[in-house]
Amino acid sequence: MSLHLIKLEPSILQAVYNQTAINVAAEMRASIPALRSNRSNLEKHILKTLAEEENFEDYREYIHSPKQYFTRFIMNQADKYLNNEKYKIQTIFRGNLENKKLKIINAVYVATDKVIKKHGNANMWMRCFSKTLIEDLKFTEISNVDSLEITDFDFLNKIVTEGLTKMVKNQKGADIKLEMLQKRSEEILTDHFCQCCWAQCPFCKAICIGTMKDHDGEHSVPFHRAYGITGVYYRGTEDLDCDFCTSAVQSNKGFFPSPESEESVPFKQYRTAGGKYATWNITPDCSELPYWKWFVCRFQEDLENLYSKKFQGSGEIPDEWKKVQPKEDV
Ligand SMILES: [Zn+2]
Ligand SMILES: [Zn+2]
Repeated sequence: MSLHLIKLEPSILQAVYNQTAINVAAEMRASIPALRSNRSNLEKHILKTLAEEENFEDYREYIHSPKQYFTRFIMNQADKYLNNEKYKIQTIFRGNLENKKLKIINAVYVATDKVIKKHGNANMWMRCFSKTLIEDLKFTEISNVDSLEITDFDFLNKIVTEGLTKMVKNQKGADIKLEMLQKRSEEILTDHFCQCCWAQCPFCKAICIGTMKDHDGEHSVPFHRAYGITGVYYRGTEDLDCDFCTSAVQSNKGFFPSPESEESVPFKQYRTAGGKYATWNITPDCSELPYWKWFVCRFQEDLENLYSKKFQGSGEIPDEWKKVQPKEDV
């Protein structure tokens, strides 16, 4: 019978690691401020970190591939936590191992009790044992124990319990294998933060705040950006445009919906351009975050190199933008 217990060991360990991954993801969400709430809160932390680190490549990824950047950010946070909190995770793991042991011992008692009362055989014992644990352990196979002519079930009970206790003791003494729970806990976190709307404003690429992937109604975001940061420029010139979407939609300016468009569309009627433009609700207001004014000034040269255009002429950066500090408003 000890042979069968050895076969169970990987299932037991996998189940304990899975449970630990769930607990660790919850611990991370409770103790890492960036992961404490929803994606909007996470984005605030991301913007703050980006401003502190001042790495243009990170900004470029955040602006043009936000989902990829968010995922990378979450994984970095998770990585740091896993490496710094190994002791805590080990304690959680040991607790889960102990719980699992108790559940299995209980299943052994239940099976033994049933078999003795019903004068069953070893197969009945195994079926009952497996049935009690099927939710906890994903058995790949339930061995046929016909060949085992076991009649002394109290003895069986004793050797399984002893074997299990020994195995749990060994595991508790060993170092936890973080790689066995890392992927799962990261998945739990990225699922939580990334299963929402990722539509980006057609002008400035700000991310919709919709919490559902295919939500009803139009996409929207409380703060748009200066859309020169996505490479928007004045046609026929080399001048990047540093207007904010919220100002543009109340101006008398127009835009070309695509590089092939021959006619411009007035910003005030941006929805009539159809396609992605028709799916966004951009309200005309004065919600220009100083953050993005600071960003344009700080990374002017990088943006100009990225798009091979300049903030000049009609896209000249206003002088007052240069006095702005980024940190107070994200
Ligand atoms: Zn926008
Ligand atoms: Zn949306």
